[in-house]
Amino acid sequence: MVATVYLKPKRDKSLRARHPWLFSGGIASVDGSPQLGETVAVHSSKNDFIGYGAWSPDSQIRVRMWTNRKEEINTDFFRNALMLAIQSREALGVSANNTAYRIIAAESDGFPGLVLDRYGDYLVAQFLSAGVEYWKSTLVELFAELIPCKGIYERSDVAVRRKEGLEQVTGVLYGEKPPEKIEILEEGRKYWVDVLNGHKTGFYLDQRDSRSLLARYTNNKTVLNCFSYTGGFSVAALQGGAASVVNVDASQTALDLSSQAVELNSLDDNKVEHINADVFKLLRSYRDEGKTFDVIVLDPPKFAENRNQIKKAARGYKDINLLAFRLLNPNGLLFTFSCSGLMEANLFQKIVSDAALDANCRSAKIVKKMDQASDHPTALPFPEGYYLKGLLCQI
Ligand code: SAH
Repeated sequence: MVATVYLKPKRDKSLRARHPWLFSGGIASVDGSPQLGETVAVHSSKNDFIGYGAWSPDSQIRVRMWTNRKEEINTDFFRNALMLAIQSREALGVSANNTAYRIIAAESDGFPGLVLDRYGDYLVAQFLSAGVEYWKSTLVELFAELIPCKGIYERSDVAVRRKEGLEQVTGVLYGEKPPEKIEILEEGRKYWVDVLNGHKTGFYLDQRDSRSLLARYTNNKTVLNCFSYTGGFSVAALQGGAASVVNVDASQTALDLSSQAVELNSLDDNKVEHINADVFKLLRSYRDEGKTFDVIVLDPPKFAENRNQIKKAARGYKDINLLAFRLLNPNGLLFTFSCSGLMEANLFQKIVSDAALDANCRSAKIVKKMDQASDHPTALPFPEGYYLKGLLCQI
């Protein structure tokens, strides 16, 4: 018998609406002594069955829901959920034009805390909650069964694991260890991905659509690609016919993969510069030198990891956006992003608006909004799954 978690009065509403998180404050009592990650039944204060979830004793999010139905949480349950996730990517056409894409986007695909990405012949997984950690070996067997691959690699070296009472861990889960760099194809663009040491699972798959969009606006343009990582936007800009691309990042290993990507796509490396620098400083020196560009990309890392950091994050976004607006030529385009889920879309727009005003770009407008690619869906009852916001602004 699984343990039963009883809710406080009126705390069943969001769970019934299929939000997957039960916070510790909503719990009245627990019947039984569930262990880390084990399945618990959740009942309302009136003892109605609400669903089954995974027990996270160390986290404020005490239970992450698996289902609202009376069904057993077992291998077949996960096989069905995984098949749905795989089929949705096929139906969206993502797997037709890309050898790298997200197969499981955590809560939004019914696997709270689990990320599964495909990079060519390899899968890379992050197990970020007690529930998916508990089922890890079952899940890995299912991945290998349903997704043909040479190997599955774990990149659970993420700080949030601590909140779940889990250590950070990396390593081979199945088959072969991935090579140091994997070649992937994204909508006609080729990239090198270091899944062993790169950021997240190796690549910013979520920016796929915005990279394709950028390519439409770069013909004969001068492009400044800030926070360029391994060259995602750079290859797109060059394929779009850019006259020149300046890439700026603080990581030399990322910049090295970026210049190798130029070669991989047989693009002209005379048009590309790679600068290892702090974007905040480099934008200032460009301003002082009077350097300008036709197109600027600002795709910074997460500036806000928690609510206390939102103010500081806002200052960071304002700073780089203000500088970028100053560096734009007439009719210039700014592709500006925030990947902090805590930074709400309206606030981000306000910050960018203030930046334009202070940069004296009074007529700046949004010509397009951007967000995460379709293999990073947002379950309707889980708005927290929507995190990547972008504004394409023209001055
Ligand atoms: N646009 C990229 C992803 C950017 S991720 C893509 O499409 O793939 C953010 C990048 O910012 C990382 O590569 C990180 O090394 C870099 N970075 C973080 N802080 C920085 C800073 N202050 N100056 C320059 N680069 C920075």
